[in-house]
Amino acid sequence: MRTLLRGGAVVSGSGTQKLDILVENETIYQVGQALPAGGAEVVDCAGRLLFPGFIDGHTHFDLEVGGTITADDFASGSRAALRGGTTMVVDFAAPDKGDTLAYGLGRWREKAAGRSACDYGFHMTIDDWNEGISRELAEMMEQGVSSFKMYMTYPAMMLPEGDMYRVLRRLRELGGIAGVHCENSGLIDALTAQAKAAGRMAPASHPRTRPAPLEAEAVGHLLRMAQVADVPVIIVHLSARESLEEVRAARRRGQTVYVETCPHYLLLEDSVYDNPDFLEAAKYVCAPPIRKREDREALWEALKNGEIQTVATDHCSFTLAQKRAGRYDFTKIPGGLPGVEHRGLLLYSSGVAEGRISEADMCRVLCENPAKLYGCWPRKGTLAPGSDADIVVWDPAAEGVITAGDQAQHVDYTPYEGMRTRGGIDRVYLRGKLAAECGRVLDTAGVFVPRGKCML
Ligand code: MN
Repeated sequence: MRTLLRGGAVVSGSGTQKLDILVENETIYQVGQALPAGGAEVVDCAGRLLFPGFIDGHTHFDLEVGGTITADDFASGSRAALRGGTTMVVDFAAPDKGDTLAYGLGRWREKAAGRSACDYGFHMTIDDWNEGISRELAEMMEQGVSSFKMYMTYPAMMLPEGDMYRVLRRLRELGGIAGVHCENSGLIDALTAQAKAAGRMAPASHPRTRPAPLEAEAVGHLLRMAQVADVPVIIVHLSARESLEEVRAARRRGQTVYVETCPHYLLLEDSVYDNPDFLEAAKYVCAPPIRKREDREALWEALKNGEIQTVATDHCSFTLAQKRAGRYDFTKIPGGLPGVEHRGLLLYSSGVAEGRISEADMCRVLCENPAKLYGCWPRKGTLAPGSDADIVVWDPAAEGVITAGDQAQHVDYTPYEGMRTRGGIDRVYLRGKLAAECGRVLDTAGVFVPRGKCML
């Protein structure tokens, strides 16, 4: 089967060029000017941008947290992803303490297999350390799981510092890389106890008990450990201006640091927590919390100048009924926001259309950099001969409004309700197959994508 995408402007991290793309079966066969149709089905892409399929390096589908389970599983989450141009997600496999990594990976492969409509890989959470896990890290690398997650907060998942160092050293040997959730756990606990003792139980206490300096402190702390361990690391969901300063300091010392941020930190601000209506405020509870306007502006600036390498969603959706669990205690609100469906649209609308970033920047942070960072380049993340034919046909002239009533995410709200958007998606191809068209998601079958070492 051959498809010729004719007359579009192909976007890469270095610019935009008018080129045709010829797809044969699952891969891109040729990219060039005025390609002959041969027997191919011709799709007119005049006036359209052609992006590589977006990669979301941070999702939580089908995850149990605090006695409840995320509203999106791999079936609904992947369909929402495709509707928004995301053709691959890297989800977090999370074994419980005491489990082997193999058991954790097996569980996540079962959750995704036969259900995920988009392609997928897994990061592996390391929440425990012993000889067995050390050995298993090599097996994970062999099975195409090359990135690992550690937490500096959440008692159920935290590792002692000595063990974090041991993990970093072991990853250095194997060529794996760690992404770390950076927040100072001890002080957050103390601030939380203080808020509760004062009877401040509303969602407004959430950002106040997790202030930016406690993220920045943990970022600095991690980066000093990484300096001694002599390894690159990834700061996931960086949200604060002060955290960027810690990253800059480490880079000045000569360290390699990769930074991810999320659309909600780029688009929203912390006044959302002051809404007197419980659910209106609770629906924005996530960690780190949404920050101040100055933080948001600092993140855009860092995105533009290349200090932030990737934008992922940290999609972790809960319905309003689930959020209600924290009605009388903000610490019981399940933390996380839906977003896997809207990332491209948000970044284009608030970034490209507003002149804050270019189309090439958008391609770098949504496609090229995640593919390189997570070791699946050039199979993913670029529109080049031999690459998977994951293609987003983007209409820069489209306009729309984000509403909960018009989304494939299996959740009854969106943090971006009523937001007017610019740009939109005509078609999404997953390995050559039409996966979404004009907001309609078709039936596709995602595959596990084994990944190698970081190439960024
Ligand atoms: Mn997360």
